Amino acid sequence: MGWIDVTLALSENVPPWPGDPPFNRQPASNMSAGDKCNTSRIEMSSHFGTHLDAPFHFLSGGQTVDNLDPDILIGPCSLIEHKPDRHIEPRDIEDKMPEGRKRVLIKTRNSNIIHDSTFHEDFLALTEDAAKWLTDAGVRLVGLDYFSIAPYKQGTPIHRPFLGAGGIAIEGLDLSDVSEGEYFLVAMPLKIKDGDGGPCRVMLHTLPFNVTA
Ligand SMILES: [Zn+2]
Repeated sequence: MGWIDVTLALSENVPPWPGDPPFNRQPASNMSAGDKCNTSRIEMSSHFGTHLDAPFHFLSGGQTVDNLDPDILIGPCSLIEHKPDRHIEPRDIEDKMPEGRKRVLIKTRNSNIIHDSTFHEDFLALTEDAAKWLTDAGVRLVGLDYFSIAPYKQGTPIHRPFLGAGGIAIEGLDLSDVSEGEYFLVAMPLKIKDGDGGPCRVMLHTLPFNVTA
C-alpha cells in the first residue's frame, strides 16, 4: 500500500467550526490575467480542516505549535475502528493497542460525514473518561475523524487535561479509506510562530516501514 494521505484538502467545501472564519483563497496574482505567476491570498482559522491542537490552544503558557516534539509527531501509530454509535469510552480502546503506544487515531461513523460541506453537531468524540485513560496510558497524540476530539460544546473538560499533560490532538482526519491496524505516522503542522495550532499534513504508511533509497 505504501503512503496513505489522511488529510482533507483545504477548500471552501470543508465546513469551519461554528463561529470560526471559513477558508477563503483568492488569486493575488493570476497568469490568466497577465501576471508573471500564480499566487494566492489565504484566510482561514488556525483550526480549520485537518489540523493540530497544540497545548497552548487550551492552556496559557502551554507549548506552541512551532515547538512541538517531532518524536510525538512521527512514529508508530495504532488506528482503532470504533463501531458503537456513541462517544468513545476507555473500554473501546484499552485492549486495542500495544502497551506503551504513544500515538492513536480513532475512526468512527464520523468518516461517513467528513466530506460533507455542512457541519454536523452530533459527531462522535472522546468522553472525559477516555481522554483521562489515554493520558494515563502515556498516549501523547490522539487523532479523530471530525473537527474536535471532544463532543460538541464539551471542549474544555476533554482538551485541557489531555493537552495539559503534553498531549497533541489532530482533528478533521480523513480516515474513510483506512482500516484498523498498525501504521507509521507522519504529522507535520505549519510552523506558525507562537501558534495555538495549525493546518497539518498527515500521512500513514503501512508496516513495515523501511527507509531505503
Ligand atoms: Zn483544534
